[in-house]
This record gives sequence, structure tokens and C-alpha cells, in this order.
Amino acid sequence: MKTKLCLLYGGKSAEHEVSLLTAKAVIQALDLTKYDIDPVYISAEGEWRKGPKLEGPVEHVSALQFDSTQAISATEGLQSTSLAAQQSTSGQYDIIFPLLHGPNGEDGTVQGMLEVLNLPYVGNGVLASSAGMDKIIMKNLFMQAGLPQVSYVSFIRSHWDQDRAEAYKKVEDEIGYPCFIKPANLGSSVGISKCTTREELEAGFIEAFQYDRKIIVEQGVKAREIEVGVLGNDHPETSVPGEIVAKKDFYDYKAKYVDGDSVMIIPAELPGGVTEQLQKMAKIAFQSLDCAGLVRADFFLTADGEIYINEVNTMPGFTPYSMFPLLWENSGVDYPALIERLIELGIKRHEEKQ
Ligand code: ADP
Ligand code: MG
Ligand code: MG
Repeated sequence: MKTKLCLLYGGKSAEHEVSLLTAKAVIQALDLTKYDIDPVYISAEGEWRKGPKLEGPVEHVSALQFDSTQAISATEGLQSTSLAAQQSTSGQYDIIFPLLHGPNGEDGTVQGMLEVLNLPYVGNGVLASSAGMDKIIMKNLFMQAGLPQVSYVSFIRSHWDQDRAEAYKKVEDEIGYPCFIKPANLGSSVGISKCTTREELEAGFIEAFQYDRKIIVEQGVKAREIEVGVLGNDHPETSVPGEIVAKKDFYDYKAKYVDGDSVMIIPAELPGGVTEQLQKMAKIAFQSLDCAGLVRADFFLTADGEIYINEVNTMPGFTPYSMFPLLWENSGVDYPALIERLIELGIKRHEEKQ
């Protein structure tokens, strides 16, 4: 019997377009003799639209962008047949594959809806997704797990607004320059600034608070950026490490998605023992957030050999040219095999919960 799969993509976030490209690539990689694929597209405005079962790969992403006439309610999109047919569980999807990044997709909200509907899905659950989306909560959990990180402080908008000078003084006393200011709850480098003076610090606070009511300020380090893929549920495995070399001062939104001129080096060339250390830390990071399925753990490596964890991404970039799939390809798991592994892990996790 074929596996009934629902592909969920698009989404109301800055990474809408990336998600569409990912969906196209995943469809191409899936073996249609083994899977029945129903596409559910979430428009940039957040409308859910369900298309007909896919009979083969699509030429262009526009074929996956259904219009408003195919609009449905979110929960309706996740039913493979009518509710009546679902009285027997055979009407259910075997697996939902959310290919969504950022808020409203990678942050536990969609995962919560899938839990309520008791549907198996690929990737991280509610807790890991939401903790991974909030950089303050994530760093607090890493700290508890004993992972080395740069020092950081966090602020709430209304507190800062009551005494801005006090907030800036706290940063200067506890963190110093250069520092990085980030909205707590975004990804893709949106709203992030590097600050080297009081003026830049003040501008950075205002910028970051436009995106979130909570921000984090971190000590800025001069370091190489090394990433490790983690795959599994209770017994995760790690990939070889890869390095991102950004041509710009830091890996900002433009470097990630517009210029495309940052270079990936896989496997990263690292001093003896560092690979093992990074892999061990990546597993600890995965477990500290109670992750499932996949995570990409991102590290800083300084010239004098210090390693700091920067973050984990619970739904990392997933086109065939993104770091996470390439890390696994270099570790002996190619793109189609990686997708199958993730589907199996999602189904297994659901069975274990029952
Ligand atoms: P996002 O979740 O948006 O990817 P990151 O925390 O990874 O946010 O920050 C984006 C980029 O900014 C990083 O890839 C790195 O280039 C740079 N950066 C972030 N924090 C620091 C830091 N503390 N020191 C040096 N560079 C940093
Ligand atoms: Mg991130
Ligand atoms: Mg990052």
C-alpha cells in the first residue's frame, strides 16, 4: 500500500519562496510508486489552499501555488478524505510533511495543530519547535545543558521603554562592543544588527524591537561558522561538519538569500578532535530541546580554538543545495534517502506516543 503524504509548504513568513523551492525539490525526490502526495499550499497571506493529488514532478513552482478558489480551512487541509470516511482511520494521512520556516510553521504552532488532530508529522514537536524559535529560551536551555555560549542579556520592549539608558548601560557593563542585537523570535537574520558604538546600539534596539517584543543582545565574536546536521529521534546521529564562509561582515539576510555568494565548505577543514567535539555538542543541543527528526546545530569556532554554540534550527533550509541536505549527502545519506528517513522517523515517533 502506498504511503499517504500531505506536503505543507509556502507559509506566512519571509521564507515563503524558499519553502516553495523546497516543495518542488521534495516532490521530485519522492518515489511516486511508494507515495501518494497531496499538496497543501499556504499563501503569503496565510490562506490554506489544497491542490489535487500530484501525478508527477512539477516543472515550475507556480504549479504549486493554488489560487483562492482552492481555499480551505486549515484543519480541512489536513484531512485526506471527508470526515465521514475518517471514522475508519484509513482515511487519514500517514504523514504530514511541513516544509515551513520561521514563525507560523517552524515555531510549534502548526505542530500544535497537528497534535490536536492526532496526525503523524515530520520533524520537531511543539516544545522543540517553539523553544528553538525563541533565542532567549533556547540559550537558557543550552546553558542548563552546559553548552558553551557567548554571554548574552535579554530585554522586553516595555521595560526598555521605561528606562532606555539603563538598558544600554546594562549592555555596556555586561556585554560590551562589538555586540549583536537580535529579535528573540525570528530567523533568516531579519532584524539583526552588529553594534560597535552607543549610537549603533540605540539604533539596533529600535530595529530589533520592530520585529518582536523581546530581544537578545550577545557578545560579538570573530569566528568561523561551522554547522552540523543531526538526524534521529531518541538516538540521534550527526553529520560531518560544514563551514559557511560569508563574504560580508556577517551572514545577514542578503548574504543568505539575495547575493547567494557565501560559500559552503563540506566537510569543514578542522583541527584534530574538533569534529568529534562539535558532533558531541550538536547531540547535546538536540537533546536539550527534546528535538525529534532533524536539527541543524550552528557553532562559532574562534582562532584560538574556542567553540560556542550559536543556535539550532528546527526546520533548516532544505532545498537540495542547502547546508543540511548537503551535510548528509557528504555523510552518506543522499537527498531522497534523507527525505525517506525523515518520514520514517515521523511515523515512528507518532507510533511511540500512542
Ligand atoms: P538567525 O536565526 O536569523 O540565523 P543567527 O543568530 O544565526 O540568527 O545570526 C545570524 C548571523 O549573524 C550568524 O550566522 C552570524 O554570521 C552572525 N552572528 C550572530 N550572532 C553573532 C555573534 N554573537 N558573534 C558574531 N557573529 C554573530
Ligand atoms: Mg536561526
Ligand atoms: Mg543562524
